[in-house]
Amino acid sequence: MRAFSYVRPQTAAAAIEAFAAAGAGARYIAGGTTLYDLMKLDIEQPKHLIDVTAVQGMDAIEIRGDQLRFGALVPMSAIAADPGVLREYPVLAESLARAASQQLRNMATVGGNLLQRTRCLYFRNGAGGTSAGNTYPCNKRDPGSGCAAIGGADRGQAVLGQSASCTAVSPGDWPVALVALDAHVEVLGQSGARSIAVADLYRLPGKTPHREFELKQGEMITAIVVPKTPAGACSTYYKICDRESYAFALASAAVALEMDGGVVKQARIALGGVATVPWRATAAEASLAGRTLTPELALAAGHVAFADAKPGRDNGYKIELGARTVADALMIAAGRNAA
Ligand code: SF4
Repeated sequence: MRAFSYVRPQTAAAAIEAFAAAGAGARYIAGGTTLYDLMKLDIEQPKHLIDVTAVQGMDAIEIRGDQLRFGALVPMSAIAADPGVLREYPVLAESLARAASQQLRNMATVGGNLLQRTRCLYFRNGAGGTSAGNTYPCNKRDPGSGCAAIGGADRGQAVLGQSASCTAVSPGDWPVALVALDAHVEVLGQSGARSIAVADLYRLPGKTPHREFELKQGEMITAIVVPKTPAGACSTYYKICDRESYAFALASAAVALEMDGGVVKQARIALGGVATVPWRATAAEASLAGRTLTPELALAAGHVAFADAKPGRDNGYKIELGARTVADALMIAAGRNAA
């Protein structure tokens, strides 16, 4: 057991100040469903916890005007069951409903969910760092130590966006749906508030896989904002896992369509479970524009989405699985157009 301090401020400004005052080793905590896990594995070793669950004004779901706005402290389960979100943006509700377990969805917040760390087996099971005598090198956990997954057991690893330093999959479902809808996050830090596209929140691993998010020291996500789109209602989040519940995606697709009869006016496609960041499939989107959607065209678009995929030792199956996941998601979403 490592000692740490704990405070529970009442306002966002007080939380920012508490983080700054705590200095190195500070972490925000809300639902705790990721951070406590990583502390038990000794991967995260915070010296100061800033509990933000009492912060006022960060727990509302607002669907109004030209946007949906979710406070960062809203539990995953609340959005998954919200009638307005279910009706108008099923891709958002489904991405949350298909994640984790009901107990975890009740605890975990939609802000914290965006900052989950990878489930790469070597990252999680090699806790303590190579300097502590661990078997597995991991550049994300212990920068410069190497990557045990490259050439190792990589069945769950990424086929898109990898680098020579890291092939770990971005684990979330919710961020994939948000990227498909061009959502952004509002963040607050010592230098004030700013907005970041969810697609820009995630860094490709490159040579620095330990730097995962485009957040400055001490910045906190306060809200998630989704611009309204006519494609919202004609959408789905389709996820393939080793088992039906409480499992991370082997491949997933967030799809939203704007249709004119059977013709695709606009397609939005993002991929999960196959890439190092939530992955927007823009070439696949373009391949559908102005064309009548059929199962054959949907599968062709799926293959376009994986045209640049590079398999490792054991994960080549993700390329065809991913293409078929995209195709099925497209047909499910299109079916909602007729509903
Ligand atoms: Fe670590 Fe990334 Fe390699 Fe996994 S893939 S062992 S997280 S460096």
